[in-house]
Amino acid sequence: MNMIELDGSQGEGGGQILRTALTLSMITGTPFRIERIRAKRSKPGLLRQHLTAVKAAAEICGAQVEGAEAGSLSLSFVPGRIRGGDYRYAIGTAGSCTLVLQTVLPALWFADAPSTVTLSGGTHNSAAPPADFLQRAWLPLMLRMGVQMELELLRHGFYPAGGGELQARVQPLKALQSLHLPERGELLQARATAIVAGVPGDVAKRELDTLNEALAGALGEVAGEIRGLSSREGPGNALLLELQYAGATELFTAFGEKGLPAQTVACRLAQEVVAFHRSNSAVGEHLADQLLLPIALAGAGSFCTSTLSSHLQTNIEVIQKFLPVEFSIAAEASAHRIALS
Ligand code: ATP
Repeated sequence: MNMIELDGSQGEGGGQILRTALTLSMITGTPFRIERIRAKRSKPGLLRQHLTAVKAAAEICGAQVEGAEAGSLSLSFVPGRIRGGDYRYAIGTAGSCTLVLQTVLPALWFADAPSTVTLSGGTHNSAAPPADFLQRAWLPLMLRMGVQMELELLRHGFYPAGGGELQARVQPLKALQSLHLPERGELLQARATAIVAGVPGDVAKRELDTLNEALAGALGEVAGEIRGLSSREGPGNALLLELQYAGATELFTAFGEKGLPAQTVACRLAQEVVAFHRSNSAVGEHLADQLLLPIALAGAGSFCTSTLSSHLQTNIEVIQKFLPVEFSIAAEASAHRIALS
């Protein structure tokens, strides 16, 4: 089979190009070679998270791999057959467990036997989907597409300490169904969660109070909850806002940092949430780029998203190299409609 050649500096130029290629290579059986991995990032090449994704993908499908070393700027991957099983990986840093999981889970949907994947590392990282996002926003849509999968957060892990643990249990797929999210429907509930580990509890309270105040005009009452964790899981602070609409659930996150006032964290999150709510879209910026691959595998699907990110555009280009599909993007009043038919 012909080897697909990828340029890791194209478009967004980040880790998603590699991860999408790994997933689709495993599922389609198509080998690929990638040069200039993560060329647009400040530390280009394979970091621990990407290396773990490569090694996990290689083990799960018995691939032949060249270039799987820390810092490597190029990689070739020749996949074999996907095998279900009990897999465990430790990223070894606070690198994102969720991104590694999202790389291997779609392949395991197509395995001949059930699988369990347990990963340790970061579970709540900035610039990656937090575990709560996978559980509350991404997973329900995958289940709607016919996937049988459970995700359990065993222990939180924040940057820089890591040490979190996430487990997925997957059953082989019967059939992958299309996903159409034409409208999000009415807002049923808005729920905020302030997670604190080894951070004073009043930080969480101030974040929730500020968020409530900032969102009152746009959303009305927001239910608030503090998830106080043992300091052994920290230090870490994340503020989550879940919007449950009749048609889909979205989840937005802001991270606390040393020296960053709790009020600023909450105001940043509120701004993102209000912009999304006003856009009338069903899918926010991040969920949008993560729905493309399952929709492409199903062969049909559509949704409206508030933001057309370069992650989304780049991911479409990579997917179209592996699968005979063509996504369309159409501008609507305050959103973008992405479709595959
Ligand atoms: P790098 O680009 O440094 O390699 P990376 O490997 O983390 O970083 P990216 O290519 O930037 O990879 O992809 C990050 C992924 O995380 C994207 O799918 C993006 O939508 C998702 N993401 C980022 N922030 C959030 C968030 N707050 N909620 C949900 N998903 C997020």
